[in-house]
Amino acid sequence: MGFEPESRLVDERVESRINTLTLEQLEVVRRGAEIIKSGGLVAFPTETVYGLGANALDAEAVRRIYETKGRPSDNPLILHVSSIEMTEDLVEINWRARMLMERFWPGPLSIVLPAKEIIPPRTRGGLPTAAVRMPDGAVALALIKFSGLPIAAPSANISGRPSPTDAETVRRDVGGKIPLVIDGGETRFGVESTVIDMTGEHAVLLRPGGLAKEALEAELGEEVLLPQDQKIIKRSPGTRYRHYAPEIPLILAAPGEIPQDAQNWAWMGIAEPNGAPAKKVKFRDAEEYARELFRAMRALEKSGVSVIYAELPGERGIGLALKDRLIRAAGK
Ligand code: AMP
Ligand code: MG
Repeated sequence: MGFEPESRLVDERVESRINTLTLEQLEVVRRGAEIIKSGGLVAFPTETVYGLGANALDAEAVRRIYETKGRPSDNPLILHVSSIEMTEDLVEINWRARMLMERFWPGPLSIVLPAKEIIPPRTRGGLPTAAVRMPDGAVALALIKFSGLPIAAPSANISGRPSPTDAETVRRDVGGKIPLVIDGGETRFGVESTVIDMTGEHAVLLRPGGLAKEALEAELGEEVLLPQDQKIIKRSPGTRYRHYAPEIPLILAAPGEIPQDAQNWAWMGIAEPNGAPAKKVKFRDAEEYARELFRAMRALEKSGVSVIYAELPGERGIGLALKDRLIRAAGK
């Protein structure tokens, strides 16, 4: 009831995004949609990172995603949608979840809800729940809409490597194994979506990401719990794995904490480091740090330095997601 006007607002946002595509881009997206419909894999840009997509309802297509990435089969995929209507076929939507969809979609928010039978167990890593998200990117939205299917898509990198934030990196990681990589330039956020569990009494933040915890709390009018805050431990299977790691050691350090005898080291952070790094990547603020993090890790590992010292940011806003990725990259 009363909800429809809001759903239509989401539809209008989607339309306005898709309307920005050029004829050339539309042509490529149409080709992508044909591949998705026939069970193939397409890499495409979203506002967070590049995704490696396939028809979420086709268990065989989804198997190929896992195979191509070398992803553990118990790490479930996020289903990308282009309308709330499409979402209703996939999961049981409660009113609080709907509120979040209407407020934050399209955007970097994945919502975990009870799954309907139509989603093959392989897509959801065997869980009774599934994560759904509407990405905020013209190419991504058009690809989903034109194929008329929810698209299961993890990041388009080999498992364990930093997520790709441009098409060139995608081509290097998986390019030879899939028929199409759609180039949409550099991604806007650079870190993955926030994952929130809305299946229980309390909202639980399973993974910090592009949308700030504070924004979710303001909309819900309640505290969003962290997995460690609750008695019944809810976890995101993916958060068990070492992730996002560069090939050289990454050590978390405050600017004044770099060892005197450090040799051939790189600095990555917002503050100025003490000492003389061989390479320095400095960011204006936490937003830029997040957007450039994965690209900086990939660039530094190839630059000839032996170790990266990285500054740990505060937890406000995007800082929480940034901190999470850095801790994982450090292998902690
Ligand atoms: P990625 O696609 O690599 O960004 O990872 C997707 C994230 O969403 C992983 O951390 C998954 O564990 C998480 N996820 C997907 N589906 C579910 C679910 N049903 N329950 C909890 N977490 C999920
Ligand atoms: Mg990933």
